[in-house]
Amino acid sequence: MAIHDTGVAAYPVNRLRRLRMTSVLRDMVRETQLSKKDFIYPVFVVPGKNVKKEVSSMPGVYQLSVDNMVRECVEVKSLGIPAVIFFGIPEEKDEVGSGAYDELGIVQQALRAVKKEVPELFLITDVCLCEYTSHGHCGIVRDNEIVNDESVELLAREALTHAQAGADMVAPSDMFDGRVGAIRSVLDENGFHNVPIMSYAAKYASGFYGPFREAAESTPKFGDRRSHQMDPANVNEALREVAQDIQEGADIVMVKPALAYLDVLYRVKAAFGYPTAAYAVSGEYAMIKAASAQGWLAEKAVTLEALLALRRAGADILITYSATEVARWHRAGDI
Ligand SMILES: [Zn+2]
Repeated sequence: MAIHDTGVAAYPVNRLRRLRMTSVLRDMVRETQLSKKDFIYPVFVVPGKNVKKEVSSMPGVYQLSVDNMVRECVEVKSLGIPAVIFFGIPEEKDEVGSGAYDELGIVQQALRAVKKEVPELFLITDVCLCEYTSHGHCGIVRDNEIVNDESVELLAREALTHAQAGADMVAPSDMFDGRVGAIRSVLDENGFHNVPIMSYAAKYASGFYGPFREAAESTPKFGDRRSHQMDPANVNEALREVAQDIQEGADIVMVKPALAYLDVLYRVKAAFGYPTAAYAVSGEYAMIKAASAQGWLAEKAVTLEALLALRRAGADILITYSATEVARWHRAGDI
């Protein structure tokens, strides 16, 4: 069998296990770290008072009314997690997703309330229409087509109302063409030139979003999202998507889902060297939760290993439903 010539002495002179023999050395030579400072915690806000409804397919994740959201955000901050990303479920949905860009919409209310009570928490908003449209699509539908340019105008309006209500960063998740540029322009025209954009740059049409759709009540009533989200088979296209978003002014680019797309993450980071986020999606969370509940996996070990893999593949920022749990384990000295 041929052995690669690495230029270093081979066994028995070189024993790679030497550095694994003690925890001191293992700690010293560890190449990748997991820090809660890199976490963004997704939260779901709903109308009403004192609502706290667990998402059945995502144990430990809740839909919260604004009052409970404020409490949750106080806790998130106290756990040392620096940022949350808001998803909103409106009172009423319509064809054009009016609730998304209503100044008094559910996310806008939550932003104002949380900003007031927890000013040091960094508030990010998901910018899309799918939680707000009666048909559950991410934009305007005309003759069975999800139309691009009109939808982009509404997304830009939505982003502006978020910034006006106190969002520190906006994160368009729709995957329509031109939306980053449109949002950048409208933010700049209105004095929000310091509000960054984290674009869902390479977002795939994935089966791993299943549990999220229950949480965000955003399942499409007909059709699917394959006319705007990416084909899971493609990676060169992901690089073109990322390049375009950067050109339009994205400050951070995201790959979503995460664990099944580590190669995409790796290539995006290698190609652009840009601040890169990975979204460990609902299905990734649900798989670990379900298997752990059965006693088939060790939850802590697997949760941490999956997140570490994202960092190793190139992610700077981790959007994860496990953020608060990991921070609690950390606080309790369990990890
Ligand atoms: Zn959407």
